Amino acid sequence: MVYEKTKVVVTGAAGRMGRQICMAVLEESNLDLVGAVDVQDTGIDIGLLIGKAPTGIVVERNLSQVIARTRADVLVDFTNPSAVMDNARVAINNGVRPVIGTTGLSDADLDTIHAWCENNNMAAFIAPNFAIGAVLMMQMAKMAAKYFPHVEIIELHHDQKLDAPSGTAMMTAELINRSRAFVPQESVKELEKVKGVRGGNLQGIKVHSVRLPGLLAHQEVMFGGEGETLSIRHDSTSRISFVPGVIMAIQKVKYLKGVVIGLENLME
Ligand code: NAD
Repeated sequence: MVYEKTKVVVTGAAGRMGRQICMAVLEESNLDLVGAVDVQDTGIDIGLLIGKAPTGIVVERNLSQVIARTRADVLVDFTNPSAVMDNARVAINNGVRPVIGTTGLSDADLDTIHAWCENNNMAAFIAPNFAIGAVLMMQMAKMAAKYFPHVEIIELHHDQKLDAPSGTAMMTAELINRSRAFVPQESVKELEKVKGVRGGNLQGIKVHSVRLPGLLAHQEVMFGGEGETLSIRHDSTSRISFVPGVIMAIQKVKYLKGVVIGLENLME
């Protein structure tokens, strides 16, 4: 039996997450990094970018060309909200299954990816948070919401993050609303003396987005009940926390059908 490695191309390869993923794919015995695509650092060997020996894979700009040449199986995208859709379209139309970590996709974007997958009999995997602990935090929040319908979400990220609220906060709100029996009305009429000070309203849940240097990716889901509160918190203190989830998704996306959203769907 001929054993074939899964061929992986990374878009956003020169970025903070992209470099981590390239390094992890290079270290994984059944994965083969065949392409690194970015709009910056083009022409530079990806090995040098991640502080290792040259790999022979240089950062290129044109994803279509890379796919045509390498016949990649999986695309991993960690770019930005304005680049990810083009990359996903090129991948799906060319038989490459996308694993998308980029956040900030709208519901319309998700519908579009769904339609592309359906038209091409393809699958795509999307996760707003690839950290295993963050997935557990969301699941626990869903569990708690059944008993504590009063809840606010505080998400905290580094100050370079482009989208707010975070994809994780949006997913958490959705999970909470799937599980809580009723949506509490505000108990008092508030006078917001500073606009926005009570947070944004996400599906009836107040969300507070903190952006500061020194932070990476953190979230606290705070529930209030009669005479008690419950806080469920997750902290990603290093981007390495996202890597095992991404590797899991690369390994499993070939078995998926259609668009699958959320790492919990891949976890045993
Ligand atoms: P970054 O700015 O460090 O990296 C993004 C890279 O994409 C840059 O190198 C940029 O040049 C490149 N890029 C921009 N346009 C491109 C294009 N058209 N084609 C190819 N490359 C292009 O950002 P980052 O911190 O690595 O984060 C990237 C994305 O991943 C963000 O949306 C972030 O929110 C998300 N993220 C998700 C998770 C998760 O678990 N899902 C974890 C961390 C970050």
